Amino acid sequence: MSEPVSSLTVVRDVGSLRRRIKAWRSANRSIALVPTMGALHAGHLALVERAKALADEVVVSIFVNPTQFGPDEDLSAYPRREADDWNLLAAADVGLLFMPDASVMYPDQFQTEVRVTQVSQGLCGDHRPGHFDGVATVVAKLLLQSLPDYAVFGEKDFQQLVVIQRLVADLDIPVDIVGLPTVRETDGLALSSRNAYLSESERAIAPALYREISAVALDIANGVDVAARCTDAAAALLKAGFDAVEYIEAREAATLAPLTASGGPARVLAAVALGKARLIDNVSVP
Ligand code: AMP
Repeated sequence: MSEPVSSLTVVRDVGSLRRRIKAWRSANRSIALVPTMGALHAGHLALVERAKALADEVVVSIFVNPTQFGPDEDLSAYPRREADDWNLLAAADVGLLFMPDASVMYPDQFQTEVRVTQVSQGLCGDHRPGHFDGVATVVAKLLLQSLPDYAVFGEKDFQQLVVIQRLVADLDIPVDIVGLPTVRETDGLALSSRNAYLSESERAIAPALYREISAVALDIANGVDVAARCTDAAAALLKAGFDAVEYIEAREAATLAPLTASGGPARVLAAVALGKARLIDNVSVP
């Protein structure tokens, strides 16, 4: 596919990114950033639409960040669809696409790491050691490279969103972090670039994850014992055909701390393995 004819500008280095942003700033334009790893789908495009509603100009970044993948994870297999992504962003009327390669983000002698200590622990943090350090570091860099007014993230990666909110609060990065509800297929499966790994039969099993966490959330709202209900749900997920359940837990939404009797907003979060895919999802407790 060839480069689409549009007002989309693609930059691959920090200097070009900053020049474009400086020109927008000189014209008093507000800016929203949407960080992604590409292989864009309707979930990403919902973030783009929100960004467009929030700010005058939108920057999307596409960077498959190696430091957030573990040694046995899917970095090399991660779907890359550059031409399709360009077309989608051009059609969405995005002004600027930042597509650095790893040598731009991590040049020789790079040695700084950003770690958000507490909310990075537990849940995905326990199953993907170092993952959130990679996320925090790359998001800190993207925010400092572009200095946007807003940065838009999906609730699909709920722990990531909480990590990033903590990061910008702790480091006084002057940006509003905006979280958006998960975009789903009609059968409830959360859209994810990793859904491409699912075979037809696995794809038929996958929506059971959303069904199960939704049922757990409803039962918790109705006062059912949380630990026992999550244990039952893990068994039900295995019975539904998932290969493994990494975790299914209920947490305080704001802090990801274990649920207390305070009755603040709560979230049910889960991660499962299905064939080559690792699927995560979460819902709020009504
Ligand atoms: P990724 O490209 O998977 O790293 O995701 C980039 C951004 O898109 C993150 O903020 C994700 O939380 C968000 N995102 C991914 N899938 C969805 C979805 N189904 N609905 C809403 N946001 C999503």
